[in-house]
Amino acid sequence: MTASMPRLPFFPPDLFDGERDVVLETVRRVGLADDQRFILGERTAAFEEALRVNTGAADVVACGSGTAALMLVLRAMDIGPGDEVVVPAFGCAPLAASVVNVGAVPVFVDVHPWTMVVEPYEVEAAITARTAAIMPAHMFSVMADMPTMRELARRHDVRLIEDSAVAQGGVLRGLQAGRWGEAGVFSFVQVKTFGSIGEGGAVVTDDPEIGRLARMLRNHGQDGKNRFVHHLVGYNSRFDEIMADFQLHRLPGLAARLARRAEIADYYTERFAALGDRGVQAPPPGREGRCFYVYSLLADRRDELKRHLASRGVGSHVYYPAPLPAQPAFAPYARPGQYWPHAELACARTLALPLYPHLTDAQVEHIADAVCDFPGGP
Ligand SMILES: *Cc1c(COP(=O)(O)O)cnc(C)c1O
Repeated sequence: MTASMPRLPFFPPDLFDGERDVVLETVRRVGLADDQRFILGERTAAFEEALRVNTGAADVVACGSGTAALMLVLRAMDIGPGDEVVVPAFGCAPLAASVVNVGAVPVFVDVHPWTMVVEPYEVEAAITARTAAIMPAHMFSVMADMPTMRELARRHDVRLIEDSAVAQGGVLRGLQAGRWGEAGVFSFVQVKTFGSIGEGGAVVTDDPEIGRLARMLRNHGQDGKNRFVHHLVGYNSRFDEIMADFQLHRLPGLAARLARRAEIADYYTERFAALGDRGVQAPPPGREGRCFYVYSLLADRRDELKRHLASRGVGSHVYYPAPLPAQPAFAPYARPGQYWPHAELACARTLALPLYPHLTDAQVEHIADAVCDFPGGP
């Protein structure tokens, strides 16, 4: 590789370079404030209100992480031992871990081979008398089929939790991601579409009871009025004032950053339309029900493509190398004789390309060129 070769890492090291001064100012403002309040203060309340207005939800509860948000929702719904929760077999650990950590059992179902989101008919087939909730997740750039999930939840009288951790800002049939379930969640970890400089998450809900309970559970079961009265066994999942202040500053720019992600994704998809004969498939085109967190190709010779891109200075990433029920931690919950062939296939074929808003047009073109130069098969 020559020295002039561009280096385009998958995880950009300069995500917040443009906002360095804002970060320092935020730390100074919160750090030197008279009230010396570093968690769950007025900035957190203002951030929750801003997200509430932004999403149109009745309530938003900021908490420690997206994973914690899932657990707060599960607990607020009183889901625990003896209950089953239907989750995707393909996805990240929090989907299964949140369920196990509240004492319930995750039931894994297969995904669509192209969009990689859970298949409604698989979800329906997994519902039993013990099912307390279904928990579809949006994946990479595609929202799960939430209208059908709502219909399934109603018909089978189970709760609907929407893992919208990767889809903040996505819109399906005029309704934002996070608004389709009885509760949805957001994650503010660095790489997410509204990622930030540390950990954070939120519960989004129209159900006042879920909001009330999540708010208590995030701070050891206290009600916010009577200190040291613990109504519930909760968690420490409080929200940081520095994070709240910084995210308040960044929220107005979110729409523009999402639009830039969508624009890059559109360009990639157009360029990759002809790569089918080389075993490379782009995600579905379009903007409806989409949110461009990660741009994931499916490639028959995935590892070769990854090496090819690396030789051109283009970083890529495999989300996820193994289905959840194949993980040592979750294998005990996999039902004997059950298989997830599409999840297995996705794990073998998926490859994500750089997709961050500050990529220049020239960089985007270079990445697309590198993919299009991938040689044909043997
Ligand atoms: C990132 C993510 C989470 C968890 O968010 P954290 O803030 O990292 O805890 C949950 N579900 C999905 C699908 C995610 O991608």
